[in-house]
Amino acid sequence: MATALQAVRGMNDVLPDEAPLWQRFEDTARRVFERYGYRNLRVPIVEPTPLYVRGIGEHTDVVEKEMYTFEDRLSGESLTLRPEATAGIVRAAIQHNLIYERPLRAWTAGPMFRHERPQKGRYRQFHQLDVEALGFAGPDVDAEQIVMLARLWRELGLADGIRLSINSIGDADERQAHRSALVEHFERHHDLLDEDAKRRLHANPLRILDSKNPALQDVIHAAPKLIDRLGPDSRAHFDALQALLHEAGVVFEVDPRLVRGLDYYNRTVFEWVTDRLGAQGTVAGGGRYDGLFGQLGGKPTPACGFGMGIERMILLLEAAGAQAQSGPDAYLVHAGERAAPLARKVAESLRDGGAAVALHAGGGSFKSQMKRADASGARYALIIGDNEAASGTVAVKPLRGGGEQTEVPAERIAAHLRELLTMTKDDDGLV
Ligand code: ATP
Ligand code: MG
Repeated sequence: MATALQAVRGMNDVLPDEAPLWQRFEDTARRVFERYGYRNLRVPIVEPTPLYVRGIGEHTDVVEKEMYTFEDRLSGESLTLRPEATAGIVRAAIQHNLIYERPLRAWTAGPMFRHERPQKGRYRQFHQLDVEALGFAGPDVDAEQIVMLARLWRELGLADGIRLSINSIGDADERQAHRSALVEHFERHHDLLDEDAKRRLHANPLRILDSKNPALQDVIHAAPKLIDRLGPDSRAHFDALQALLHEAGVVFEVDPRLVRGLDYYNRTVFEWVTDRLGAQGTVAGGGRYDGLFGQLGGKPTPACGFGMGIERMILLLEAAGAQAQSGPDAYLVHAGERAAPLARKVAESLRDGGAAVALHAGGGSFKSQMKRADASGARYALIIGDNEAASGTVAVKPLRGGGEQTEVPAERIAAHLRELLTMTKDDDGLV
């Protein structure tokens, strides 16, 4: 026998028992984004490699170590599986002239690829929800996105477990001045730096602040802070953002060391972090990237956005005990030649009424069919045997939460099931 193949390490299947929570989360997020006027946009999973090198920055973890890059067989062009969504969205906005007349609020969702060491909350294929406001100078829209996420946490019942850090990393010239001060600081402590930090010291010293190496944290802590060197415009932007967050009642902490892992950010950066997932605590992060359009060959355009890791959100929801219904409303069991046509008709009429019905397929005894009904996760078994077929009725047996079996005329079954379901189920499919 041939050996069975396994999925690539760090790339996971989302199985039918797990998918309902994913769907519930994604539906909730989509509804919240749309309530703020964000519209869906979908971009390819593969882009030309230079898009990420230019967009994310050459001396970042993502570009240096984490990208899945390959050559196109025919053209020889270097292509990369997307490690993040912003660069692709900005590429699309430039290519299709999307914000020629007016700004655009957009969101997208899908898999991202980074060659990292797989562990809980960190995978090689992971999924993000990504939100971008293109053509907005802020800080109103920076605040809007943060307030929108605060609403999402509330709707998911997670508001207590996630806290917000914000920072301003200024504009290019302010970072330039800060950079000299940083290089000086790290050169004074050269012997404490690791290999990565030494290599980045002159190429991109700001990146050292993003290091996760515990041995570096003291020297990072003592480094000069960009936030102390902001010019008046960046300062005013950051002050206004904080005022808007206060006004909206969003609690936050200013973390002067927050820099984020991608080079395109300026001014506002933010992260939402939880303590409930160990080391992989950042569930969403983003900020302003006013220079990215220009870097990618477009007209200079201010913009702000964030990415959210769906796997980490699912882990958080599971830790909070969230569940979502995973089975159909009803499983229709039928045996006998006269029962089958009635069962098909009843199943279709239930679906006309919006119910989710699994119609038993493949024959078998009542007993084995009832086992299937139970295993399906359905709320009710609907049973049609010879007796029911003769009298034109359906037996209804609750499979969850007890209750008596009842007998209902076939033409009443759709209305009857709807009544039963509205009595026991709330809007978003939670049980
Ligand atoms: P981290 O510091 O944890 O590596 P990051 O700063 O690299 O995160 P971003 O590029 O900001 O992450 O991506 C936004 C979000 O995507 C993160 O906050 C996280 O929730 C999620 N994410 C990033 N990398 C992974 C991964 N390898 N596996 C699962 N989720 C991830
Ligand atoms: Mg990372």
